[in-house]
Amino acid sequence: MEAGLPRYQVALRYTAPGSGLRNDLQILMVSFATGRVDRGGDGLTPLGITLQPVLNLADSQGFGFLNQAFDRQRLRDALRLCVDLASHAAFEPILDRRITPTDAVLGSDEALDQWMAREVTTTNHISGTCKMGPASDPLAVVSQTGQVHGIAGLRVVDASIMPDCVRANTNATAMLIGERIAALLG
Ligand SMILES: Cc1cc2nc3c(=O)[nH]c(=O)nc-3n(C[C@H](O)[C@H](O)[C@H](O)COP(=O)(O)OP(=O)(O)OC[C@H]3O[C@@H](n4cnc5c(N)ncnc54)[C@H](O)[C@@H]3O)c2cc1C
Repeated sequence: MEAGLPRYQVALRYTAPGSGLRNDLQILMVSFATGRVDRGGDGLTPLGITLQPVLNLADSQGFGFLNQAFDRQRLRDALRLCVDLASHAAFEPILDRRITPTDAVLGSDEALDQWMAREVTTTNHISGTCKMGPASDPLAVVSQTGQVHGIAGLRVVDASIMPDCVRANTNATAMLIGERIAALLG
C-alpha cells in the first residue's frame, strides 16, 4: 500500500441474517496499490479495492477456522453482500471488474466454501483464554479486577481476560482493560 492512503476507509457493522449475535459481522473496505497510475497528480491512485468480511464472533475455536457450519453460512452471506455492495452504481466510476471470487464460485455454496477455506485468515484478535467472571463460574480464571481466582497477589490484565472476543479490533479494548483496572487499583 502506498504511504498516505488510509488503509481502512469505510466499515460496515451488522448482524448476520439468522444470527442471534448482535453485530457479529464487519465488512472493511481496503484500498491497495499494486502499481502506479500516472494521472498527472501525485501518482498515488490505488489500483484495487478489497471488501473484507470479518467474523468477530466465530463459533469455530482456535485454529479450526470455519469448521462450524454457522460460520461458513455467515461468511458466505457476507461475501455475497460484498458483491452486491460493489455492484452499486456509486462504485461504477471507480471499479472496473471483480477479480475474485468468480461468478461460478459465488453460485455454489460448496465452491464458495472451498474458496473460503483457501482464502480465510486470522485478524489476530486472540483473546478469551483466561476469562473474567465470578468465582462461581467454572470457566472463569480472573475476577473483575483481574485477580486470579484462588491465587492471592496474582493478576492478569490483558486481552486474554475478555469473556469473548469483542466485536471490533481488540487493541483499544485491551488498552482500556489495563487503564480501567489500574484506576480501580488506585
Ligand atoms: C499482526 C497483528 C496485527 C494486529 N492488528 C490489530 C489492529 O489493526 N487493530 C487492533 O485493534 N488490534 C490488532 N491486533 C490485536 C492487538 O495487537 C492485541 O489485541 C493487543 O495487542 C493485545 O494486548 P495484550 O496486552 O493482551 O497483549 P500484547 O500486546 O501481546 O502484550 C503482551 C506483552 O507481554 C510481553 N511478554 C510476553 N511474555 C513475557 C514474559 N514472559 N515476560 C515479560 N513480558 C512478556 C510481550 O513482549 C508483549 O509486550 C493485531 C495483532 C497482531 C498480532
